[in-house]
Amino acid sequence: ANATVTPRPAIARFSTGSIPATVGADLLVPLADGRVTDYANFDHGASAPCLESVRAAVEAALPSYASVHRGNGYASRITTQWYERARKQVHEFVGAREDDQVIFTRQTTDALNLLARAVPANATVIVFESEHHAALLPWPTERTIRLAAPTSPTNAVTSVADALRQAPEGPRLVVVTGASNVTGEIFPIAELAAVARAHGARICLDAAQLAPHRPVDIAELDVDWVALSGHKLYAPYGAGALIGRADWLNEADPYLYGGGATASVSTDATVWNDGPARHEGGSPNVIGAIALAAACAAIAKHRDAIEQHERSLLARLRTGLAQLPGVTTYSIFGEDADRVGTVCFTVDNVSSTLVSAALSAEYGIGVRDGKFCAHPLVGRLLEDSPENGTAVRASLGLGTTREHVDRLVAAVRTLATSGP
Ligand code: PLP
Repeated sequence: ANATVTPRPAIARFSTGSIPATVGADLLVPLADGRVTDYANFDHGASAPCLESVRAAVEAALPSYASVHRGNGYASRITTQWYERARKQVHEFVGAREDDQVIFTRQTTDALNLLARAVPANATVIVFESEHHAALLPWPTERTIRLAAPTSPTNAVTSVADALRQAPEGPRLVVVTGASNVTGEIFPIAELAAVARAHGARICLDAAQLAPHRPVDIAELDVDWVALSGHKLYAPYGAGALIGRADWLNEADPYLYGGGATASVSTDATVWNDGPARHEGGSPNVIGAIALAAACAAIAKHRDAIEQHERSLLARLRTGLAQLPGVTTYSIFGEDADRVGTVCFTVDNVSSTLVSAALSAEYGIGVRDGKFCAHPLVGRLLEDSPENGTAVRASLGLGTTREHVDRLVAAVRTLATSGP
């Protein structure tokens, strides 16, 4: 690491719009041989770095925030306005219906667990095994029907229709991801919602992976709830949301007992609030909500540019990897499926852990390896793979450049042909 380095300016600015990402700025990575390179972040599917506009929104709020919904001082009232404005922006971001509510949570996992607590006691939940664990696990086991990972979008719809026909009487909830966190493939949400509707069931969309890359419109898709995470939407950690119907949530016990959730408390009785406050007990993460809302606003403004940018880089990445001997890519629905910028692959005779370690140490490329909190799906996708049951995931985003993609493809070629 004695190499002389000329620091470059921000190295991975998203150039098609006016929301420069801080992605990689000032991040120069020393490689194994002492050279230094730009960091190529292919781990947006896990957490996406903060946008400049989000940082600006947070910085503007930091010096003057105060309590929310509690004080009558000037700063308190302003902060309450910020918080409620953030709620409105998230509501708009997902095209929610007028009477849908936005409950701020910590992230998607929290949002789905909150909904799980509100599902009526006699309800049946239907979920694919291909889900991220956050969407697969929160539901009561004895009342959950787990469907095998679908083999095509049509098969997804018919499986859910069959399950709904066979499900016991009573409320039913279908839970499905918008885009797979393993393969990036997009599920047929509107069609699944139509089937749910036809059987009098409800549907919750896990939009953790979809919302950063494609529009999500609750009313147009006709889904009942959407869950999302700020840290996947180019905002910092700690804020997410559950957006949708109020009825089940207003009938459920509060998620957190405490101040803010209560309308009145006496020796004999506690009356809980309705609406978002019911489930937002304790002092809320106002800065997180402001950051999340700022990210939503920036992304909504640049939707087309984002999609164009990511589609072209994804095509380049997939074409590049497809030409490499000894590299296998995986998909749920098949090669033609529509997908966000995520690719799951293995390299013959090189463990995924070693691939990701070598990409990082030798090429300054950050990917993820493992089973991606989707063990049943990865188990199925890799059932014929000679590797140890884990794969590599490369997920691109706003800061990704063609040079990053080319570097990744070239690095994987070297690993596949000559080993690490
Ligand atoms: N759902 C999907 C599809 C995901 O990809 C993730 C995270 O990777 C989650 C849910 C959980 O998100 P979080 O960790 O922000 O709660």
